[in-house]
Amino acid sequence: MNIPFIDLETQYQRMKQRIDARVQSVLDHGKYIMGPEVAELEDNLSAYVGCRETITCANGTDALLMALMALEIGPGDAVFTTSFSFFATAEVIPLVGATPVFVDIDSSTYNIDPNALREAVDRIKKQKNLRPRAVISVDLFGLPADYRQIEPLVRSENMDLIEDAAQGFGGSIDSRRAGNFGTVATTSFFPAKPLGCYGDGGALFTNDVDLAEKLRSIRVHGKGNSKYDNVRIGLNSRLDTLQAAILLEKLDIFPEELAGRENVANQYKSALGDHLICPSIPVGFQSSWAQFTVRPKDGPREVIQGSLKKAGVPTSVYYQKPLHRQPAFSDIKWSYDLPNSERAADEVFSLPMHPYVNPKTIRRIAEVVTEIVATS
Ligand SMILES: *Cc1c(COP(=O)(O)O)cnc(C)c1O
Repeated sequence: MNIPFIDLETQYQRMKQRIDARVQSVLDHGKYIMGPEVAELEDNLSAYVGCRETITCANGTDALLMALMALEIGPGDAVFTTSFSFFATAEVIPLVGATPVFVDIDSSTYNIDPNALREAVDRIKKQKNLRPRAVISVDLFGLPADYRQIEPLVRSENMDLIEDAAQGFGGSIDSRRAGNFGTVATTSFFPAKPLGCYGDGGALFTNDVDLAEKLRSIRVHGKGNSKYDNVRIGLNSRLDTLQAAILLEKLDIFPEELAGRENVANQYKSALGDHLICPSIPVGFQSSWAQFTVRPKDGPREVIQGSLKKAGVPTSVYYQKPLHRQPAFSDIKWSYDLPNSERAADEVFSLPMHPYVNPKTIRRIAEVVTEIVATS
């Protein structure tokens, strides 16, 4: 068996005609930069997310950077974020001159722990050398962070909340979709994300019309009334028309794909739940299942990963190193423990996850895991 970790090929074969036609139509009209597909996609994304404004951009990292720039976050500002995420989540904070403050995760959801966030904010307030300014929360592996607690906390401290929904696009809490939490939310259309294009892409979502205007200006070199009237320092961070065309078709089948992912996750849970610690989704929450991430009940993950590899099943570790252990952040002093992040980095691994995982594959994975757990 040759089992893909993420199966973009099956998806393409399924919608080849539609994607090819959309791409051809861009080649025919030739408006490669900010063509009509970009505006069409932004409207469709706003309708899906349920927000007023969508601003597409070049990638998910730029989306985060643009959010910080638009909110005028900079030197002297503390930006609280999770210590367990992809590097980009925290990378953008020193890029604008602000200071990241890493906060531990809840070990059952892998998302930022609201209690630890409360403590971190209080600690920074006591130190008085930084101003608590914003929180970047991550919807890790597809599960929205605990916004029921994070939103009131952030509001009571007069901070801004940036939702990093690069993995969470499609998730929800009650009927509120990811992309709707905080002052502004960001996502990524990197090919492996739940909604991916065929290259780099990203977007920001907000209900704040003025902030949206500012983001549109930052997207094109801080433009004012025209491209050659530059009223602020910005970036060149547009989404290609070709990528927008591809995303229009993929967004169309996205709800169906999301149901497919949910179905795969449920099969995994019933097949593996006795042998591995499977993701736990709080009541009222819906994951977009960017990853299906598990932990052994005991013993090292490498034993299980090794057996799966022999059976032709690929696995990955997101993430090997918590963010506060990254050499790039070694000049940032922290005098507090982040034990849940450390443990997660040591113990988790992810199984193949996409809407087209075959039930046979899941049975095969269950056989391998059952055997290794029984004999170790
Ligand atoms: C992928 C990802 C990003 C960055 O997105 P790019 O499009 O690759 O720049 C940011 N945050 C998280 C949580 C991600 O998974």
